[in-house]
Amino acid sequence: MAYVFPPTQTKSLQIEGTSDLYPVRRIFCVGRNYVAHAVEMGGEVDREAPWYFMKSAEALAPSGQTLPYPPGTANYHYEMEMVVALGADLFKADTAVAENAVYGYAGGLDMTRRDRQQDGKDHRRPWDLGKDIEHGAIIAALSRKVAPDARIHLSVNGALRQDATLADMVWSVPEVLSHLSNYYHLGPGDIVMTGTPAGVGPVVAGDVILGGIDGLAPVELTLSEPE
Ligand code: MN
Repeated sequence: MAYVFPPTQTKSLQIEGTSDLYPVRRIFCVGRNYVAHAVEMGGEVDREAPWYFMKSAEALAPSGQTLPYPPGTANYHYEMEMVVALGADLFKADTAVAENAVYGYAGGLDMTRRDRQQDGKDHRRPWDLGKDIEHGAIIAALSRKVAPDARIHLSVNGALRQDATLADMVWSVPEVLSHLSNYYHLGPGDIVMTGTPAGVGPVVAGDVILGGIDGLAPVELTLSEPE
């Protein structure tokens, strides 16, 4: 038997300091994981449990590229986030086990069609058009460690827009992974974008977006004219 067309090539992340690649299976994203961002979005943090949306692995793009402003939006936003990548299986795990399953950490941009996300909120519909965007998950090279209180920041054309610390996260990495493992057989190839601090905003063609987390490779995106 043969495939009727060539299968899509697996997307992957670079790994800092090596030429190896981390193949990506699924991208989970945490909603409202910083109090100040939840407030700026007109919401509040749900302290009962973390909650999620997804981007398809097809949305992945490496840092450092120039990519077109996407179709279907007039309000495209950056969200700087810490990304955690799993290196071991995880199912119904406690936080200690979850922490040990981490392969590495990276800086990432959860690019968002804010207007389409708002449509979803207004009509109580899913957020897919707002969040699952071709080239809308920009993720830098993975490192094996990050400090739990590392600074996380983002600038647009050199102007600082987001500035917080990972210690501001409502749900820590082990808490998120433990909780998510009650719903999925998580494993190597699964990555989680852990939410964005306050200061999100729109970008336009020509803008240069530069995000950083202390100790990790920077993540950079330059937007070109719409396709
Ligand atoms: Mn986000």
